[in-house]
Amino acid sequence: MTRRVLPARGSRLGRYRSRRATGPGFRLRATGWRYVRLMKLIVLYDNRALPGFEAGWGLAVLIVGGPRTVLFDVGWDGDLLLRNMGRLEIDPGSIDDIVLSHPHWDHIGGLPQVLHQGARVHVPSSFSPALRREIATRAQLEVCGEPRHICAGVSTTGTHDLEQALLLDVGGGQVVLSGCAHPGLGVFMDVARSSGPVVGVVGGLHGFTELDLLEGLDLVAPGHCTRQLEPIASRFDRTCRVLAAGLEIDLAHLGGGP
Ligand SMILES: [Zn+2]
Ligand SMILES: [Zn+2]
Repeated sequence: MTRRVLPARGSRLGRYRSRRATGPGFRLRATGWRYVRLMKLIVLYDNRALPGFEAGWGLAVLIVGGPRTVLFDVGWDGDLLLRNMGRLEIDPGSIDDIVLSHPHWDHIGGLPQVLHQGARVHVPSSFSPALRREIATRAQLEVCGEPRHICAGVSTTGTHDLEQALLLDVGGGQVVLSGCAHPGLGVFMDVARSSGPVVGVVGGLHGFTELDLLEGLDLVAPGHCTRQLEPIASRFDRTCRVLAAGLEIDLAHLGGGP
């Protein structure tokens, strides 16, 4: 694995990498190398923002601490995305994979600003031929009709209706990372269960109302377009983290993991 562009020395991403490179960030399991102890989500774009960050309608979440740095969705306004990334000293050139959940403007609009020739872009099969061609001229395009393994601990659900979600294996179970969950969160949770118990749900949940599905999870992190944000936050107050740009969520120890 080679890095084309490394973040500035001392930056957040640089610190994750140097810790990872020295060994304590991963462990050996019977099934192979698992980068589970340091896997962390950094919200780069959301309808809400922490002080010092900008909010905008859309979603972008960076997954760091694994063998590859993965960006899930890119928001709408690429300049806003870059400004939020700049505040965290994250260089777009350090992103190995970009996974786009579905072809809605608030999830793909920022793509040109973070694309580079070394990136792999994983899109659901609902992307139009024209959009696929545009992306393929600037990066390596992967169309994910079926579930796809991105790297250790990170895979896609395959396309359901127009959308795909990301599954993160955190050691103790699966975390579902959703863009809008238009096909229904339950669909993505069912796919995740084929790989292990679901221990967390993160992302946009749109019109989701089946709150019972969230019962017993270690992490409930709704954001972006989630209409039932308040009911979810009050019912799951011990496990809920409402997303906001600038928020970091450590996935270690979920599901009784390492
Ligand atoms: Zn949508
Ligand atoms: Zn959306």
